[in-house]
Amino acid sequence: MDTCKTEEWRKLRNAGKACPHRGQSVEENLELWDKMLRGDFREGESVLRVKTDLTHPDPSVRDWVAFRIIDVERNPHPLVGAKYHVWPTYNFAVSIDDHLMGVTHVLRAQEHSVNTVKQSFVFKHFGWTQPVTIHFGRLKVEGGSLSKSKLKALKLRYDDITMPTLAGLRSRGIQPEAIWELILSVGIKPSDATVSLANLFSINRKILDPKADRYMFVPEPVKLVINLPKRIVAKIPVHPSFPERGHREYELGPGEVSLYISRKDAELGSFRLMELANVVVRRKEGDVYYGEVVGYTIDEAREAKMPIIQWTPDNSREAVVIRPVAAGKKAVERGLIEPGAETLREGDIVQFLRYGFVKLASRDTMEFIYIHE
Ligand SMILES: [Zn+2]
Repeated sequence: MDTCKTEEWRKLRNAGKACPHRGQSVEENLELWDKMLRGDFREGESVLRVKTDLTHPDPSVRDWVAFRIIDVERNPHPLVGAKYHVWPTYNFAVSIDDHLMGVTHVLRAQEHSVNTVKQSFVFKHFGWTQPVTIHFGRLKVEGGSLSKSKLKALKLRYDDITMPTLAGLRSRGIQPEAIWELILSVGIKPSDATVSLANLFSINRKILDPKADRYMFVPEPVKLVINLPKRIVAKIPVHPSFPERGHREYELGPGEVSLYISRKDAELGSFRLMELANVVVRRKEGDVYYGEVVGYTIDEAREAKMPIIQWTPDNSREAVVIRPVAAGKKAVERGLIEPGAETLREGDIVQFLRYGFVKLASRDTMEFIYIHE
């Protein structure tokens, strides 16, 4: 039991010296303890200390406080109000709890490793076995801040898709298994580790790739007019690696047909419209491109080194892709999506061909969240 004034005690502690109360007898200590419980002291007038090592290199370890008085009239406990005025400190309470609950292993952040040292004295005094403590460093995300103050400053929710918080990653479409795998690959070590979002995305991509169905989305769409001499049924595979999942069919022609492709692709001049026909652009009027069908097979397209591009038919629907850019910053990309996407449900993750993996956020507005390439 110690009735030193805090300031005086701290001076002695920093000098590695014992205060006058350190040598008190058990009887004297018990009497002071009873007085403290009875309410003879006010906050700050007496504490119970754990005898440690006055020469310990870390002064905070020297005779740390196990019990102190709280002025509960001023600061009532949220649950028990002013019922008790003598309270254990975190380190004391945790040591006792760990022992009584039979805790065998403690996982603790490296920055709190001094607590393990402090608690070791409680275990020694009682003759108990201290749990094994595993210290781990912080996991930082490169190019992303996890700080709560930043979230607050930007008025963002924890699950904002631009934040690399667990909730944010979940709403963005990162799979729990990807985070699990990333953390296993980093391992548990006391030093801080920095992981890159790119690394997380590449793990996530491997998980999503076999699951995600493929759809044709056309960003920055322009109209392409072609003439089909015969009726063609374009069969778009649900997933090229799994033919058993089926396909979606779009019937086009015969005659003049309008469809949509991306402006960037239109500017290529020649291309293969996926599963449809090989086209060379002949002229452009305003924003409308006119193309000539020069073949139908993929071999011909390969020979002519034509890129295979996605397209959407005349009755395609408007869609929006929200792309996380930086904390609190999002980019919006508008485009057209093939009618087959009507059957998607909110939360579904698909791949937009030649675009990236996306998650449907709203069916009403056909709003998708961009996950990664
Ligand atoms: Zn003292």
